Amino acid sequence: MINELYQKAFELDQKDELAPFREEFVNEPHTIYLDGNSLGKLPKKTIEQTNNLVANQWGKGLIRSWNDHWIDLPQKTAAKIAEIVGAQPDEIFVGDSTSLNLYKLAFAALHLNQQKKKIISDNLNFPTDLYILQGLIHQQFKDHSLSIIESQNGITVSEKQFEETIDNHTALVVLSHVVFKSAFMYDMAQINALAHQKDALVIWDLSHSVGAVPINLNESEADMAVGCTYKYLNGGPGAPAFLYVRRDLQKQLQSPVWAWFSHQAPFDFSLDYQPKDSIQRFAVGTPSVLSLAAIEAGLDITIETGIDRLRAKSQQQTEFLIELIQQLLVPIGFSIASPLDVNQRGSHISIRHPEGYRISQAMIKPNDGSKIIIPDFRPPDNIRLGIAPLYNTFTELVDSVERIWKIVTEEQFKSYSNERTVVT
Ligand SMILES: *Cc1c(COP(=O)(O)O)cnc(C)c1O
Repeated sequence: MINELYQKAFELDQKDELAPFREEFVNEPHTIYLDGNSLGKLPKKTIEQTNNLVANQWGKGLIRSWNDHWIDLPQKTAAKIAEIVGAQPDEIFVGDSTSLNLYKLAFAALHLNQQKKKIISDNLNFPTDLYILQGLIHQQFKDHSLSIIESQNGITVSEKQFEETIDNHTALVVLSHVVFKSAFMYDMAQINALAHQKDALVIWDLSHSVGAVPINLNESEADMAVGCTYKYLNGGPGAPAFLYVRRDLQKQLQSPVWAWFSHQAPFDFSLDYQPKDSIQRFAVGTPSVLSLAAIEAGLDITIETGIDRLRAKSQQQTEFLIELIQQLLVPIGFSIASPLDVNQRGSHISIRHPEGYRISQAMIKPNDGSKIIIPDFRPPDNIRLGIAPLYNTFTELVDSVERIWKIVTEEQFKSYSNERTVVT
């Protein structure tokens, strides 16, 4: 059976028109990387571009490089992100972290919709998003309440649950477009329409979808969004995040952080605050030039490949991976914790096993000379297998599943500790 699966993977790799893009990245030998949904690989061009920036623009140009190279960098980067998420360049701000951008937008939305007191999210959301909302209620919006929609199966949430929860008291809905654990993907246009019927605003967190699935913020009538660039966009550890506000909403929203980069004329050094009229009213301080420059190559590769081709390969790969899991891993005690309908999921597959943590450790640190396989682990027992269609091959998927099968059937995981590392 395994030989047939390898044969099939070989044929799929042969036919894969995105295969050449793998060479745009640094690929460690003897290592299979299935964590592009947490930290994307390093594009080779990024090495060259950041070296040049550090050695020449910073080293030699110093302060002059602000005018020569850097001052337009945030807007240039924003325009590229806009193309990837189906928005206009003047609707995207790049900078800060996803968490902080969510704070700014959620504050602004609640401030605008003061008369309504209900906030909605779900229990599949990324914890930082819920913490931000809890903090806003605790510190600023004390009469507000947070309604958490509970997934029935830990994998999906139904539209019906939303219809029941969104009402005329709802000020704001905050959801991850693709949820981090199960990879369930919301129908963005549908939720936006439901919320708008009740005059509620929606903020989408695109961190697990941007660069992996088609997003059209304008067409789906999205109000606001945030997202990160270090996952499928390969922008590097801690790369600046972005936020989106649709054009006609921008002037109505007020950032909670008044600072000089959101001021109409920062270099007039006026002592009175006057926010910019544009999306830049959500800026705070000096842009992180080194990290901004490091995002560029990843964005260029994504734009060149085209999100539709990326999605097509990603869907083919998650389908293939599910087939492998069903054949080899379900019989030995795994269950699949992602939607089986390809249209309802993003680009990673979660599998569960009571020994999930030790199995993931055995994958990362083999002691029998096997290939290193890097997934990640999410408590209590999820192993996430992230597929980045820009660089993952079909053969890597067979290798990985065969390896997991071996770790379990040979009980290799038993020689690993259950003690958790800081970052998992
Ligand atoms: C990765 C991720 C984040 C990360 O937030 P940071 O502030 O950049 O650390 C936030 N939300 C979601 C849904 C994520 O997947």
